[in-house]
Order: sequence, then C-alpha cells, then structure tokens
Amino acid sequence: MSSYETAERYFNRAAEVMGISDNMSKLLKTPQREVKVQIALEMDDGQISTFIGYRIQHDKSRGPMKGGLRFHPEVDAGEVLALASLMTWKTAVVNIPYGGAKGGISIDPSKLSPRELEGVTRKFVDEIHDIFGPDTDIPAPDMGTNAQIMAWIMNQYEKYHGYNPACVTGKPVELHGADGREEATGRGTAIVTRSALLKMNKPVEGARIAIQGFGNVGSFAAEILHEMGAKIIAVSDAYGGIRNQDGLDIPELMKFIKEHKKVEGFLNSENIDNATLLAADVDVLIPAAIGGVLTGENAHDVRAKLIVEAANNPTTPEADDIFERKEILVIPDILANAGGVTVSYFEWVQNRQHFKWEIEEVRKRLEKIMVDSFDRVWKIADEKSVSPRIAAYILGIGRVGRATVLGGI
Ligand code: NAD
Repeated sequence: MSSYETAERYFNRAAEVMGISDNMSKLLKTPQREVKVQIALEMDDGQISTFIGYRIQHDKSRGPMKGGLRFHPEVDAGEVLALASLMTWKTAVVNIPYGGAKGGISIDPSKLSPRELEGVTRKFVDEIHDIFGPDTDIPAPDMGTNAQIMAWIMNQYEKYHGYNPACVTGKPVELHGADGREEATGRGTAIVTRSALLKMNKPVEGARIAIQGFGNVGSFAAEILHEMGAKIIAVSDAYGGIRNQDGLDIPELMKFIKEHKKVEGFLNSENIDNATLLAADVDVLIPAAIGGVLTGENAHDVRAKLIVEAANNPTTPEADDIFERKEILVIPDILANAGGVTVSYFEWVQNRQHFKWEIEEVRKRLEKIMVDSFDRVWKIADEKSVSPRIAAYILGIGRVGRATVLGGI
C-alpha cells in the first residue's frame, strides 16, 4: 500500500465516524495544486544531471500552506501528496493558522558536494519561487534537508521578491532562525511521550525507550527524554543500531554522532540491526526515520506498550490494526511530530514582527501547545471510543472542514 493510500485510509476511517458526506470528503482530500519540475545541474565533474522536484499544496482554508522539503532518493509524487495531506491535519491538530503542503527532490544528498547541493537547492527555488512565500506556502526542513539549505532557499527567494525571511522556516539562528527550532520536533515528541506514559500510569522517569533514526528528530527526542529521566536502551540509523540494556549515555552519543556520522561503534554498546530495534523489550518505541517501517509482517514482534510516531507515516494500516488488537497505544504522527511545525510557526511570527523571542519563551509555548493538543486528542478518543490516531484525524478534519465551510466553497 502506498503512503498516500495509508493516509487516505486513516482519513476515511475518521470521516466515517464523523459522518462526513462523500462530496465533502473528496473536497477535503483533493490537493489545491501539484507542481513537478525538472532541475538540471552541472555537477563538479562537468556532467549534467537531471533531478525531479515536487511541491504539493494540499489545503489553504486555515491559512498559508506549510510543510517541509525532503531530499531523498525515494521521494515521488505519491509520497509528497501523502505528506502534504498529513501537514493539513497536523497544523489543524495543534491549531496553528496554517494549511498543509510538502515538497521534495528525488536525490541522495549524501552523494552531492556542498556546491552541488547548493546548486540543486537554488535551481529548485528558481522553478517554484512564484508559488511559495510568507503568505502562500512556507517550506521548512525535513529528511535530508537542514538549516543551511533553508538559508539558501531564503537567499534565492529574496533575489526575486526582496527581503522576506518569513518565506521559509528552520533557518540558521544567525540568519533569522528561531532558537529552539532545531530541537523542536524531538522536544514535542518527548512531551507527548511523557503525557502518554502518564495516562498509562507510568512515569517517564525510568521508562525504557528504543528509537529508530538518530537524525534531527531522533537525537533530540533521545536527549530530551534522557533529561526527563527515561532510559534510552537502543537507537539506530540507516547503517545499523546499538543497544545497552542499562541505558545509553545519550550526551556522549550526541558528541559521538557529530564526529562519526553513525551510531555503530559507540562506547559500551552492542550492535543490533533495525529489525531487532523494532522488537526491543522496551516500554516505548519511537520510529523517527522513514515511513512504512511498522508493517503487517513485523507488527507482531513489537514488544513496546506505547509507540510514538516521530516519523511521518511509519505505521501501515495492517500494523495499526494489529497494534489495536494487541492494545499497544499508538500516538500518531500528526500529533507526535507536530512540535517542528509549531516552532516553525513561532519563527514565522518572529520574522514578521522583526522581534526575537528568548528560547525559554519558545519552549514554554511549545510545551503548552503539545500538552493541550495531546489532552484534546485523548478526550476525543475517550468520548468516541476510537484510537488516538482516529481522534487526531477527527480533530484535524473537523477544524479544516469548519474553516472550509465558513470561508465559503
Ligand atoms: P534526518 O535526515 O535528520 O534523520 C533521519 C534519520 O533516519 C537518520 O539517522 C538516518 O540515518 C535514519 N534512517 C534513514 N533511513 C533509515 C532506515 N532505512 N532505517 C533506519 N534508520 C534510517 O531526518 P529528520 O528530520 O530527523 O526526520 C526523521 C523523520 O521525522 C521523517 O519521517 C520526517 O518526515 C519526520 N519529521 C521531521 C521533522 C523535522 O523537523 N525535521 C518534523 C516532522 C516530522
């Protein structure tokens, strides 16, 4: 099943509970605009390479569209559409005044020199600068992109449209970025993990956690949960994983990864593969890498009692059904990783006001939004006897649907 079919299946389940008509469902699911562009670049060796870039704008009923840019070899139109729709529901779940969009380039950034990466990024902006901007659609980092890439996007956009740092978020803090944006997705994941554990009558202190993916989101989630007193037993990345039953030394691992670029070989740990990590004997499993990793084939092996989806779309509907039957609680992506877009919103607000907030202000406001959103989703799940995933979709679809009708169709 494709990532779009997965997202659509979850939408349909929520729409059924809500009693939404087929016509309204179709209106809410259909994207506003889908753009596909060619990016031709002269590589360092003089050869010409051609890449395909996408920007899909899903819904704008609640405000300018918002969503990350992914540089990954598996990026395609279906995946970008699925992720764009998730952004629509996600911004609505945390109630920030945005719609949803997503973009990406089908490319392996690790195989490009810095000059080539900059060239691809600037050429992509040349192709799409007319359809994004601070009041229409605001890109941000996602897998394979970072603050430097956002800085190039801002700079290239400004060549066409003049000074306007609010055209993109996730920028370096030295260049109109927000303090706390880099850690925001991982921090939001840590906050909802703590809230979910509390509902299960288990304090975060001493909770045993495994995290797949040790990039931006996974590493900050690990660091903040470690600070909250949890034990991070296992982590992995694209090259393999590591485990220590007594808990990994996360502050040391954060230094190690900066130097070695992968987790394998870290002090006081045994090597494990990604399949072993997903089946680890832990309280909480946090997928924080790619989509579609928890499937009908491996869901029965999962021993965690709580899954917190830091990655987008990590669970297939087959796996989701198995988790529901096994009473494994799943906190869905559209809530669990919404901390990133929330602090992106704070960055956009600061850019528009030309006023910088202290990091304590950013963290305090993020904490409130994540805790309140978790509680609201939990309440709907309770009242309607549905999973937190369907409850989150009900919350998001309800807000988008009301805005659509109020604005006039
Ligand atoms: P990243 O590129 O910084 O890190 C990705 C990590 O996953 C790396 O450690 C990489 O080695 C690992 N990985 C890649 N393929 C893997 C595989 N097959 N098996 C195991 N590990 C693998 O990306 P990120 O920004 O941390 O994003 C991770 C996930 O979180 C993505 O699904 C992304 O859409 C989602 N997300 C990110 C943000 C954000 O602010 N960065 C916000 C919301 C959601």
